[in-house]
Amino acid sequence: MQQTILIVEDEADIAESLQYNLKREGFRPVVAESGEKGLRLALDEKTTPALIILDLMLPGMSGLELCRRLRRETLTEKTPIIMLTAKAAEGDKILGLETGADDYVVKPFSIKEVVARLRAVLRRVETDAAPNYQDEQLKVDFGDMRVTANERDVRLTRKEFALLEHLIKNSGRVASRQQLLDNVWGYSYFGDTRTLDVHIRRLRQKLDECGSCIETVVGVGYRFIGCK
Ligand code: CA
Repeated sequence: MQQTILIVEDEADIAESLQYNLKREGFRPVVAESGEKGLRLALDEKTTPALIILDLMLPGMSGLELCRRLRRETLTEKTPIIMLTAKAAEGDKILGLETGADDYVVKPFSIKEVVARLRAVLRRVETDAAPNYQDEQLKVDFGDMRVTANERDVRLTRKEFALLEHLIKNSGRVASRQQLLDNVWGYSYFGDTRTLDVHIRRLRQKLDECGSCIETVVGVGYRFIGCK
């Protein structure tokens, strides 16, 4: 299903360029030229956005004001917000984040940067919403990126954690080497699959007696089977 992205921006060229590019990325962008219209669209259940891109400097209701209003409404209190700001002043960034924005981008920005931030924020929200994993020996907190094996803290690198997370979320199913490379290293990765095997080996070593929770499926990839 296409995710609706609400763009609240009074500068037509910026709004259009965001709209065009987000559509191309597979989202359903909706534009509001003012804070008032933005509020109306955000609270309309037909257009409830998955994320809001919000310009700080708007005529009428300002971006900060709108952000505060959205945080007070049950429907939008948790909707991720990325602020667009022309001012790089530290105070503005902090103010934006204190008001409840999840991230901010300073103008002029590249569309690529906005899309990358947007995907990162959406991913974070999804991960936060995912229930944590726990069995008799292994505990994984996806939000805090914390892993405990037999009550012992396990320190993983980002890649190792991402690997473990992907395997757990596809628990019981075989993840092929290519799937793991695509998901953890990104589609642009063309390195050889030995990198993956090295990471899996290190991950198992760090998990120690829990290492057997990752099963090797010869010739295909790996499967998470949990610790018993
Ligand atoms: Ca503006």
